[in-house]
Amino acid sequence: MGRIYLDANASAPPLPSVVEVMHRAALESWGNPTSTHREGQRARHLLEEARRGIAAALGVAPAELVFCASATEALHLLLEGLRPALGDQPAAVFPGEHSACLNSIKAWSDLRWLPCELEGAATVVQMAANNESGLLYAMPHAPGAVRIKDCAQAWGKVPVSLDDCDAAVFSGHKMGGPRGVALLWMRPGLPWRVTLEGPQERRRRGGTEDLAAILGLAEAVAYLPERLEANRALAPLRDRLEAEVCAWSDGYEVIGGARPRLPNTSSLLLRGHAGDAVQMALDMTGFAISTGSACHSGSVEPSHAIMSLGYTESEARSVVRISLLPDTRSEEVDALLAALRRVLRVG
Ligand code: PLP
Repeated sequence: MGRIYLDANASAPPLPSVVEVMHRAALESWGNPTSTHREGQRARHLLEEARRGIAAALGVAPAELVFCASATEALHLLLEGLRPALGDQPAAVFPGEHSACLNSIKAWSDLRWLPCELEGAATVVQMAANNESGLLYAMPHAPGAVRIKDCAQAWGKVPVSLDDCDAAVFSGHKMGGPRGVALLWMRPGLPWRVTLEGPQERRRRGGTEDLAAILGLAEAVAYLPERLEANRALAPLRDRLEAEVCAWSDGYEVIGGARPRLPNTSSLLLRGHAGDAVQMALDMTGFAISTGSACHSGSVEPSHAIMSLGYTESEARSVVRISLLPDTRSEEVDALLAALRRVLRVG
């Protein structure tokens, strides 16, 4: 069967047409979009066409989108840019936010934690979907606050609305697009200041845009309706996987199993096993899965997102994350289950 990749939440493979578009752009459209000659103008034209297509899919104005190199960068630009105006006022933050967000917002002086400490917050940060558990979250009702939504993990897996927030970030490499491109969306009128000076992106993010990656992203966005449908259809396969694993032992549990989750994500607590050992053993036999967030792999820290759900450190170390691709087949899940049985020594 070859290698079976079940780590979509870390990075999903780019769609074949995305790779084609990028290849062509790298050969033909390498001009600098900021240059005034014809090559530059052509690059600028393609850049703005891509921005319009992506903005239309998100239901926002093209000028409200800033192209960045990663969601990590987009979160940093957003939070550093808001800090002079809001950083000394209460900020209510969801504790399971990605480290890309927490690392930046820790510089703010009055952090409080959702869901309890919402009262009086000037800023609210709530991700749409958690990368590790797959749990979906609604934006809390916070009249007057600036509401920030991290859509990096939700995009392409579940419908995303921007009606209930004022700023949001998106990543290209988890939805069939390329790595190295992401979006920052901001509603006009936010008290935001530029921190990365330069003429590009209407002076909001300095640095020459990666046109090939941006065109690749626009191509992937065109396939979002199909991707959403394919992801939606994964839920029964994911549920079958979970039901079988949980039948093996009373100590096994699906994190957030009874709550609304991304349809492709299984966060499995395998009490009595070290998640990283299970992951490594599966890797040796041809399966790529993860222990919680890929961004933490290699680190010995247990997942803060899992612990914020009330699990102990030892339980957090026993979690593996399986995140299916839109085209994962039933036979591939069967093969994983057979391999997992051997690794867990199920009788
Ligand atoms: N936010 C969430 C919820 C994520 O899952 C990730 C990556 O895993 C990021 C932000 C960072 O995205 P990027 O890899 O584009 O920096």
